[in-house]
Amino acid sequence: MGHLGEAMDEASIDPSSVTVVALTHTHLDHVNGLLAPDGREMFANLTKILIAKDAVKSFLDKSELERFRHLLAPITSGDRLADHLLAVAIPGHAPGHMGYRLDTGDDSILFCGDVIHVPAAQFAQPELTWDYDDSQAVARATRIKLLQDAAGARTWLAGAHLGRPGIGKVVEEGQGYSFVPVA
Ligand SMILES: [Zn+2]
Repeated sequence: MGHLGEAMDEASIDPSSVTVVALTHTHLDHVNGLLAPDGREMFANLTKILIAKDAVKSFLDKSELERFRHLLAPITSGDRLADHLLAVAIPGHAPGHMGYRLDTGDDSILFCGDVIHVPAAQFAQPELTWDYDDSQAVARATRIKLLQDAAGARTWLAGAHLGRPGIGKVVEEGQGYSFVPVA
């Protein structure tokens, strides 16, 4: 939403070093970072945009993104994208909502898109859903299962709406969970 450049600068990541972008879904706050606020392409050396097959249409419906059409690489759940990187469907929030699991063997982190929108409420009550979910019933089931699995396996979660630093683990608490951000 106009701040990706600053955020990458703060994290000491040079946008020109990025050659592949993996999208979780095509809501504006998840795709518009492909463009800088002045309209330039954010990643000068981009060779590929990984996107769920079911999300391609909504991506291309955004006229400002048409210029990236030739870079789109449609994927499906279960695709192994690199040695340690797996595409994992996390349906319900948006067409083709896709997560990405990075496994080192010792540890794993799941980039979980918008499974959690409102951390203050949805960790404690994973059944809570809202209008921004395409299918509230499917999103609810996805979130309940994902949190259960992540707590059981001690998987790191990285989510776009988790607040700083956006990465942490979930632990069971009461009827739900609490989020423990990475130090
Ligand atoms: Zn979203």
